[in-house]
Amino acid sequence: MRFECQPGCTVCCQQKGFVYLTEQDLPRIAHYLGMAPQDFEKRYVYRTRNLRRLRTPRATRCHFLRPEGCAIHPVKPAQCRIFPFWPELVDSAREWHRTGSWCPGIGKGDLVQIEAAREQAREMRESYPGLYH
Ligand code: SF4
Ligand code: SF4
Repeated sequence: MRFECQPGCTVCCQQKGFVYLTEQDLPRIAHYLGMAPQDFEKRYVYRTRNLRRLRTPRATRCHFLRPEGCAIHPVKPAQCRIFPFWPELVDSAREWHRTGSWCPGIGKGDLVQIEAAREQAREMRESYPGLYH
C-alpha cells in the first residue's frame, strides 16, 4: 500500500456519505470553534439511536469544507483523520484500488506497512462501535 495525501486536495470531503463523530470529537470540535458543546450539537449534529454525525448542508457535503481545505483540520473527526485506512479499504485490495480511482493520494508516496494500516483500521473500528459491530 502506498499513500500520501495530496496538498490542496479535498476530493474525499466531497464524496457521498456521512461524517460520523466519536463522543470525543464533539466537545473537541466545539471547543476549537469556541462554542458550547450543546450549541455545536444543536447546529451541526444529527443523532440517531447509536450514532452521531454532522448534518449535511444543502449545497456541499460538509459544513466545514472550504475551497482551501477543512476549516477544522486540527480537530477533524476520527473518520476524516483515518481515511483512507478504513477497515473496509484496508481489508480489501479491490476496495483500496477502487478508492484509488478518485483519491489521488492512493498509490503515491512511501510504502505504508500493513501493520500500520491495520492499526489505523483498528482505531476506526474502536472509534465507531455503532458502525462496526
Ligand atoms: S482524496 Fe485522498 S489525497 Fe485527496 S484529501 Fe482525501 S485522502 Fe488526501
Ligand atoms: S470535517 Fe473536514 S475533513 Fe471531514 S469531511 Fe468535513 S471538511 Fe472534510
